[in-house]
Amino acid sequence: MRRCGQINYNERDPLTMDAEAWGDYWASLKVDAVLLNGGGIVAFYPTQVPYHHRSEFLGVRDLFGEMVAAMKRRRIRAVARMDCNLAYENALQAHPEWFERNQDGSPRRHGESPWLFATCMFSTYFSEQMPAIYREINQHYPVDGFFTNGWPSTGALRVCYCESCRHLFEKLGGVPPAETDSSNPIYRKYYEAYMDRVLEIWRLWDDIAHEKNPQSVYVGNLGGGLDTIKDLKQISQVAAWFNADHQGRSGETPIWDCAQQGRVAYSVMQGRTVTNVSGAYSNAQPNWRHVSKAPAELTLWLAQSTASGMVPWFHWLGGSPEDIRWREVGRSFFNWLAANEAHFRNRHSLADVAVLYPQRTVAFYSRPDSRRPRHRGGPIDYLQGLYYALLEGRFFFDFVHEGNLDPAILHKYRALLIPNAAYLGDAQCGAIRQYVKSGGSLLATFETSRYTEWGDLRSDFQLADVFGAHVAGEVIGPRGNSYARMEEKHPILAGFKGTTLLPGAENRVPVTADSVSLVLSVVPAYPAFPPEMVYPRTPRTTEPAAIFRQIGKSRVAYFAGDVDRTCWRSGNSDLSQLLQNAINWVRGPGSLVSVNGAGLIEAFSWETEPGYALHLLNYTNPNLTHGAIRNSYPLGPQQVRFRVNEGRRIKTVRALRAGTTLKFQQQRETITFEVPGIADYEVVVLV
Ligand SMILES: [Zn+2]
Repeated sequence: MRRCGQINYNERDPLTMDAEAWGDYWASLKVDAVLLNGGGIVAFYPTQVPYHHRSEFLGVRDLFGEMVAAMKRRRIRAVARMDCNLAYENALQAHPEWFERNQDGSPRRHGESPWLFATCMFSTYFSEQMPAIYREINQHYPVDGFFTNGWPSTGALRVCYCESCRHLFEKLGGVPPAETDSSNPIYRKYYEAYMDRVLEIWRLWDDIAHEKNPQSVYVGNLGGGLDTIKDLKQISQVAAWFNADHQGRSGETPIWDCAQQGRVAYSVMQGRTVTNVSGAYSNAQPNWRHVSKAPAELTLWLAQSTASGMVPWFHWLGGSPEDIRWREVGRSFFNWLAANEAHFRNRHSLADVAVLYPQRTVAFYSRPDSRRPRHRGGPIDYLQGLYYALLEGRFFFDFVHEGNLDPAILHKYRALLIPNAAYLGDAQCGAIRQYVKSGGSLLATFETSRYTEWGDLRSDFQLADVFGAHVAGEVIGPRGNSYARMEEKHPILAGFKGTTLLPGAENRVPVTADSVSLVLSVVPAYPAFPPEMVYPRTPRTTEPAAIFRQIGKSRVAYFAGDVDRTCWRSGNSDLSQLLQNAINWVRGPGSLVSVNGAGLIEAFSWETEPGYALHLLNYTNPNLTHGAIRNSYPLGPQQVRFRVNEGRRIKTVRALRAGTTLKFQQQRETITFEVPGIADYEVVVLV
């Protein structure tokens, strides 16, 4: 599956919807599969399953059947889009046990559509009613699979107090807290029971899909970008395909949000199929379901999906749209994709730097909660700060999920970067230690490995021997106006001329070092107001702000402060430069691919079925951190060096978006060429 579409129709659509016209539209995009609303909340076919609510506008129509047939006539696969999360009041009365309950026993109404009630995953609604509906659809329609909207999601666990759930709580020995809290022993047990139930239901529904046809598939809805609570590694083990419901951005979300989703999914799927839903409607805050998103924003979102190795899934809501501006945006991008399809068939990433995706830390360490220490920032701030530095430094990197830290995966990377993975299990720490012993290099920040995977405090960093640093006290911060003093010459301080001070991290772990060398020392915070009081009370200390070590072939950089998070929150360019220098130093010279030129870009390089592909996304835009992008501002020439496999002779280098052939030179394995410019997105292929 290379291109995917979804028309998400509503209860009233059977009155007006034209199945053949939709078939023509999706065929014009050359999609391989279309998601079509089957049932769950509303059945769009004459269902016989009790309490499966037929659309009240269905009449004599079988809209789902017509839509499936319209796709099949055009040789497009049809996936039944289902919703398992809500049902009507008549179902509640007949089957009170299917529904989620508040603590007082009342059922949970939907906020905007209060005539619908939330169903419970632990009830027979999931193990009996949904299977009955899937089997009915399997029996009557030539569907190729099922997809559930909104379930299981990667967000926080829901806590329900229905009878099934109360039985579960008895087994667990107590009622779990309603909020994410891994310090609570009942929460820990609930998390495991919850994940077990997700996997049990996923397998059950996948088996039902297979009853029809071994090629048929069930896929759940995931996504969440960087911020996930449910264990993606566990889910990836049952998922034939990973669908990310990551449709767009809002507020201050940076434009690279979609590419990050691709990286997170890749960290667990390792090259297996990942789709990403792109909302063609305006899904900012506030949300407009029935008008188009700005074409430039939508195109760059689709481009990030393909650049990061995902399959784009183009989504419109409502079967009889009054706004059709989105249609050509999808058609134009998908037709270009189809014309160049082979170049999007990736074999593997050519990144030489790995970034740890710290699942447990993201899930548990920083959840907003007044009981937690003040120094803990937002769940993704650490990773986001490192990410920005990686983009500014134009590094080629992959995310590696903490559940995948095995030598077979890590050996291809020259360095592993760890943005404050505070919650790390012993096994993960052991794998990291082994990686460094075998010659890999490491960058880590702040509280990395200070706690177990559930957040129990250790007396020292589990990786203290690797960092050459030991905890010497509680975290200090958040405090502004602290500094790092440059004490010795070091490659990591390259380019900082005209200053002996650098900005300090907002929070730090006071540490002692194994070595005597001191490259960056801490200048503790002092008042920033009023100006008369602004002078250092302790201008010089021997407390290390960072420790840099070389052990055989390995280089290790450890920052005692949350430099990554402080970099993100402050936007400070020195901190980004410091991180970039540190990444360069741990990785060492001579990367497989380099791109030099002006502009903020994100780059991916893949070995593909026909050869190689270099994807360049132009983020240089005033709407970088506040959408929507309305125009792109083209970048000038970019100089590229690309190392190909030994013995590989490149015959042609082409820019697929510009549609031009590029001049290049090959010297042994190194190909050099100039990309004349990047409008919004360019894909340069070497074959
Ligand atoms: Zn329940």
